[in-house]
Amino acid sequence: MKEVLINLAYLISASLFILGLKNLSHPKTAVRGNLIGSVGMLIAVLVTLLDKRIVDIPLIIAGLVLGAFIGTLLALKVQMTAMPQLVAVFNGLGGGASALVAGTALYEVLSKGAKPDPYFTTATVASGIIGAVTFFGSGVAFGKLQGLIRERPIRYSGEQVVKALVFGTALLLGAFLIHNPENTALYWAMTGVSSILGILLTIAIGGADMPVVIALLNSYSGLAASATGFVLQNNALIISGSLVGASGIILTNLMCKAMNRSLLNVLFGGFGEVVSEGKDVYEGKVKSTTPEEVALLLEGARRVVIVPGYGMAVAQAQYAVRDLFNLLESRGVEVEFGIHPVAGRMPGHMNVLLAEVEIPYEKMKELEDINPTFDQTDVVIVIGANDVVNPLAKTDPKSPIAGMPVLEVWRAKTVVVIKRSLSPGFAGIPNPLFAMDNTLMLFADAKKAVQEIVNALKET
Ligand code: NDP
Repeated sequence: MKEVLINLAYLISASLFILGLKNLSHPKTAVRGNLIGSVGMLIAVLVTLLDKRIVDIPLIIAGLVLGAFIGTLLALKVQMTAMPQLVAVFNGLGGGASALVAGTALYEVLSKGAKPDPYFTTATVASGIIGAVTFFGSGVAFGKLQGLIRERPIRYSGEQVVKALVFGTALLLGAFLIHNPENTALYWAMTGVSSILGILLTIAIGGADMPVVIALLNSYSGLAASATGFVLQNNALIISGSLVGASGIILTNLMCKAMNRSLLNVLFGGFGEVVSEGKDVYEGKVKSTTPEEVALLLEGARRVVIVPGYGMAVAQAQYAVRDLFNLLESRGVEVEFGIHPVAGRMPGHMNVLLAEVEIPYEKMKELEDINPTFDQTDVVIVIGANDVVNPLAKTDPKSPIAGMPVLEVWRAKTVVVIKRSLSPGFAGIPNPLFAMDNTLMLFADAKKAVQEIVNALKET
């Protein structure tokens, strides 16, 4: 009876996870989705505590309290711009925990004098390999995003052969373990080799591809958890791990599409190796402007599109942007936002910042919807965006961002780009948009510049 009730509760929590995910798919319902998912997890945790195998309740409660404390602290303290690093850490810890729990389960079975069956050991091997790759891969992704490790891809000759050999060795050790589960040293040797694989896989990928890598590692962490679910025969873990695995793969696919890259190209392409200072692109062709000039331009405009990017997030300019939006709308100007799916440093980054300052959702247009409207737009204001408005993606087949769908802002009558210098964006390449005839550069911090435009507009 107890078993039935436990499984029923797991089913409820799994249904809540699915409902939570459904709600997370739209910004309006995302907070509710988060809450529903959390309730599902609370049910799963409480029910697991009723499981007869739980031996140390105080230790678990201590873990819960400590985890909740660290989680709350991180949620309050971490800057929006550092969110990808945080996700990388979460993924890594998830993967690492799965590998450790699977290893411990092996010891537990052996300590009872039982011989683990191949089903159990196969799941243990899967958890150990995927978990270790996720932990160390995420560590490297964190280091790259935090600037602790070189962002450029680390490439060497025979690289793919080395990775294949390392992967093959991990599989071989796993196969030995399945045949000889009493030899626990094999488990740690296998996770050790998999750790090296995680590092090798991620150091070969450039910083610009980190969004895809993080989504992929998120998927891996789910798969590792799911494998551990098979080890522990815990349905909630199997289902929730599979959900994370599947949603991570869907997100990875969406990110690849947004960059027009195949997953194989991301994993083995070495994106971000080419860097040029862009002297020939800009020489003598860049026109700078002032907030007052931009205010005059906006005064005469009927339709304005604002394109935010990473720089808006860094400068925390969204409040000033909201003031500009309200002011223009109150004067009868049609204003919309052009949101690129990989603008900023995490999927949905711009939507979150704009929603924070209560920009109506219907004003945030996706790339496919906004691109056809640029021809009828008087002024586009690009705020701290660079790669996502780079025409090289369309014109230079050799460019590292070739084929990536971009916001075609240059088709508007006038483009104002707010950034502090001519420095490249994340992909490390020059942007010919800055030197186009209809582009004016406003060199300043985004927040300060937008505030000054608002003040100048108020005075006109
Ligand atoms: P970019 O990184 O291409 O460019 C941002 C620009 O912001 C820089 O050129 C910088 O120029 C400017 N900037 C920085 N600080 C300020 C400031 N305080 N005020 C004004 N401008 C500032 O950003 P995009 O959003 O255009 O593109 C995102 C890039 O990041 C893509 O290459 C994407 O692949 C990648 N990426 C995306 C992730 C995602 O999931 N969204 C995650 C990780 C990476 P300057 O220094 O001259 O001011």
